Amino acid sequence: MEQRKPVFPSPTSIRGATPPINDPSVPIRVHPRPSASKNKANQQAMKHILTDIEGTTSSISFVKDVLFPYARRALPAFVAAHGDEPEVRRWLDQVAAENGGVCSDDMIVETLQGWIDQDRKHTALKALQGMVWQAGYGRADFTAHMYPDAVEALRRWHAAGHAIGVYSSGSVPAQKLFFGHSDAGDLSPLVSAWFDTEVGGKREAASYGRIVEALGVPAGEVLFLSDVVEELDAAREAGLGTVLLDRREDYPQPRLGKATHGHRRVEHFGQIEPEAP
Ligand SMILES: [Mg+2]
Repeated sequence: MEQRKPVFPSPTSIRGATPPINDPSVPIRVHPRPSASKNKANQQAMKHILTDIEGTTSSISFVKDVLFPYARRALPAFVAAHGDEPEVRRWLDQVAAENGGVCSDDMIVETLQGWIDQDRKHTALKALQGMVWQAGYGRADFTAHMYPDAVEALRRWHAAGHAIGVYSSGSVPAQKLFFGHSDAGDLSPLVSAWFDTEVGGKREAASYGRIVEALGVPAGEVLFLSDVVEELDAAREAGLGTVLLDRREDYPQPRLGKATHGHRRVEHFGQIEPEAP
């Protein structure tokens, strides 16, 4: 596959030289296009960073091996304790209705556990899982995993005036809990925009179009970070800049050459160096 020209050329490529593609030792410089900076001289944050969570800021295994099993385990006690609260009942009744009508809470819990096993993205399941996790975070049963390099970079970018957004398949409330109860403490103040699949699927270009519209900035001023090339493909189609996170912890086999689909590739956040906006 032919290497596509990055939406944001590196300073090297601006000078006409060929940028080193996918060399993890070369920091990726993130900066607005010269024309964009002229037009937006009065704006503070020129560059928006939009990041995925699972496999990007955080390990895939935390979600798979900690978060989902916790929800599965804690669900029966949670439903027993809170099943009469309207906000919980509403979702339980929805699951019951989809199961053909009246059924016991035990059956509803079993259905939900089956959905967790199938990794089904169901609104009722997501809502209830979110409540179970909220209780778990509140009791400090666990903290959300964040790679230290991601924490360091997000803090640095935020301090430098870059706007940081999150786009994840987990619900927005779950994302806020995740960032709010991370290994490194409450990181939610660093994030100014949260998006989940309400804006559409992560492999659909239209979703990124909606995000850019919501952010109110040109697509070319948003840099999307993800570990999934198909998501990056969709973001690039919508005009966003893209960086592939290819972490050894999550992907023991490096994705090189054609496997990157032409996206810039890094192994940690330290290799992405935004300039001061
Ligand atoms: Mg991911």
